[in-house]
Amino acid sequence: PYDVLIVGGGPAGAAAAVYAARKGIRVGVAAERFGGQVNDTMAIENYISVQETDGPKFAAALEAQTRSYGVDIMNLQRADKIIPAAQAGGMAEVVLANGGTLKAKTVILSTGARWRNVNVPGEQEYKNKGVAYCPHCDGPLFKGKRTAVIGGGNSGIEAAIDLAGIVAHVTVIEFADQLKADAVLIKKLNSLPNVTVHTNAQTTEITGADGKVNGLKYKDRATGVEHLVELEGVFVQIGLVPNTEWLKGTIELSKFGEIIVDAKGHTNASGVFAAGDCTTVPFKQIVIAAGEGSKAALSAFDHLIRN
Ligand code: FAD
Repeated sequence: PYDVLIVGGGPAGAAAAVYAARKGIRVGVAAERFGGQVNDTMAIENYISVQETDGPKFAAALEAQTRSYGVDIMNLQRADKIIPAAQAGGMAEVVLANGGTLKAKTVILSTGARWRNVNVPGEQEYKNKGVAYCPHCDGPLFKGKRTAVIGGGNSGIEAAIDLAGIVAHVTVIEFADQLKADAVLIKKLNSLPNVTVHTNAQTTEITGADGKVNGLKYKDRATGVEHLVELEGVFVQIGLVPNTEWLKGTIELSKFGEIIVDAKGHTNASGVFAAGDCTTVPFKQIVIAAGEGSKAALSAFDHLIRN
């Protein structure tokens, strides 16, 4: 059995593994895809002390550092179920999709999240070639260019306000007949000179040429007329979904499906901790996930020495 078993091998899981392994205890990481979302990232320019890197390089460095501590990495393994310890100090079990079961004194859940896709032609083709999901990450790449934000909820309108200060122009596309963001955000948005809002608008296609986005097509749902907006970037902001479906009914989740954690990374189950994008931690970023992962590992160690 492991002293600490980590489920998920993104920045949160890797940081947890390194921090736990440095305590000289037995650590394993089971991950569907080691590296996590970082694998799908082009430029990373906001990880403190690293001026610039790219996703695959960052993911390889995560893995190399984790391996250097002798952590047992079980890649391409999906967890399907967790059975927390029946009493404090007992063993938790994690059941894998391949039928195997892993036992551990403590478990750290770091299964991350995924951006909801709009599922229109062009989205997959131009991902990272004009189609983006994270304004904090990729906003500066569109400096002085024309962009659209798909989604008029809080995250979409926050993204539009954020981008308006960087890019030339922002077009907001909302499917419903009005924006769903908080009034204070809508007021701020409406005060900006370089933003256009289309409500009752259904995105139908992201167009491109030469491997780059060059436009967005949407249908006016009232008239059925299709319009083309010429632009260089599209931010999809229709939700971030935590990878926690497998925990439903066992671990306490928020109404958004995020694992509810306290400031030390405890979940509602004794000996089970969580970190990163799969939790209620505000702001989903690499540096934050890494910090949360190390915190959860220190909490797990604290649990081990007390039980
Ligand atoms: P993730 O990276 O999502 O990792 C989750 C891990 O859990 C993966 O290994 C996954 O395979 C695994 N997993 C999921 N479910 C299971 C399961 N059931 N069983 C086993 N394993 C499972 N942030 C920045 O700070 N800067 C950027 O420039 C930046 N750019 C981004 C660009 C893109 C395109 C995307 C998608 C995100 C970007 N982000 C960026 C956000 C950043 O990638 C995330 O905040 C960060 O990766 C979260 O780390 P995490 O470890 O919590 O989760």
